[in-house]
Order: sequence, then C-alpha cells, then structure tokens
Amino acid sequence: MKKIVVAIDGYSACGKSSTAKGVAAALGYAYIDTGAMYRAVTLYFQQNYIKLTNNSEISHALDNIDISFVVNPKTSLNEAFLNGLNVEDEIRKMYISQKVSQVSSIKEVREAMVSQQQKMGRKKGVVMDGRDIGTVVFPDAKLKVFMSADIYVRGRRRQQELLEKGQLVDLEEIMDNLKNRDYLDATRKESPLKQAEDAVLLDTTFLTLEEQIEEVVQLALGKIIEAS
Ligand code: C5P
Repeated sequence: MKKIVVAIDGYSACGKSSTAKGVAAALGYAYIDTGAMYRAVTLYFQQNYIKLTNNSEISHALDNIDISFVVNPKTSLNEAFLNGLNVEDEIRKMYISQKVSQVSSIKEVREAMVSQQQKMGRKKGVVMDGRDIGTVVFPDAKLKVFMSADIYVRGRRRQQELLEKGQLVDLEEIMDNLKNRDYLDATRKESPLKQAEDAVLLDTTFLTLEEQIEEVVQLALGKIIEAS
C-alpha cells in the first residue's frame, strides 16, 4: 500500500490534534502537531526576552531553537521537546496560547517551521495538523481535511482538556482566546488559515472523537487505495 500525507487544518480547538492522533494510530502513521512547534518557539521567545519587532534577534533565536518530538513509552504519544527539554505541558498553558498567534504571524518563524515540517513529512506516512498544512506545507497532500465547530463546544472541550491537566480556566477566557487566535490566524499576511479548495470540510460540533477519527480514517483509506 502506498503511504500518503494526511493534512488536517482548521480553527483552534476543533479536535484537530485528537483526531490526527487517532487517525495516525489507526493507519500506523507518524503524527506531527505543528501547533506544538509554534508554541515551542513562543516559549523560547518568552524565556529569552526576544523582541517580536526585531528581525535579526528573531533570526538569531531561530538558529538556536531545536524542536523535536519523542514518543512517551507510557502513553505512546508524541511529546514536544525544545532544545532537549520536554515542554509538552508548558506549551499548553494559557500564557503561551495568548502569545502564539502573534509569534506565528512572523515571516521568519513560518519559513523556519514550514521547512522543518516539509522535511518531517518527506517520507509520507504522516498525519499533520495545523493551519496551513493543506495550503502551504503540503499543497499536494492526498487527503486534506478542514475542521470547524461551534465556538461554545470548542471552548468547553478545551476547558475540559486544561482541567485534566490541573488548570482551571474560565470558559469566557478560553472562548475569547480561541476567537482572538482564529481572527489573527485567518487575517495574517503570511499563509493565513483558510480552507484549501480541495479540502473536505468536517464540522465536529455534534460528533464524538471516535466519529471524527472514523470519518477521517475512511477518507484516508479511500485515498490510499486510489494511490496504490
Ligand atoms: O494547534 P494549536 O492551537 O496548538 O496552534 C497554536 C497556534 O499556532 C495557532 O493559533 C496558530 O497561531 C499557530 N499555528 C500556525 N500554523 C500551524 C499550526 C499552528 O500558525 N500550522
């Protein structure tokens, strides 16, 4: 069977990552969470007081950033590492969510991340989720899915995820953050969030995670058979 690239894009907290993880597990593919990469860059910029208006400082900082994913043997899930340190929990915190869209709109940051993502997906057999995977990173991906969902449902799901990590965050604060990120991500100059013309739209408002995964797995199997 031929291996394909599955590109999953969409708004914040629509279930992209959870779906992508499940699809990758079902197909035996690698999963790459590109949002985690922008979050790790944001963490580095915050820790090192990088000025977001200083291009040379940004380029220099990017040269010193190494992002990798390592499978946690206990959970079998990928965890993000920044310069050798596990940052999986830190990058999900609200102070990073509040800055990440500003950082990800910077041209130099996008160029560096996109080129790493293209290298990671070169061998195919990969499920990648983000905002520009089907439009910029892998415009030739065999399967492109664009996910959307009602804002209230998205807010509740994200609140639950944070709660499970011991972070109690107000629903209004979460929904404001999601709306703000959607707005910044969709209106930025560099590779804005938009549905690729050939992407399948998947509204997850009334779907369970299992249903979302099943839907994408079926689409992927169809494309794999077509490509083989
Ligand atoms: O997927 P997640 O919500 O963790 O992504 C965090 C942020 O990273 C997004 O709001 C967006 O600003 C940025 N991002 C991006 N391009 C991607 C993935 C994420 O700009 N491919």
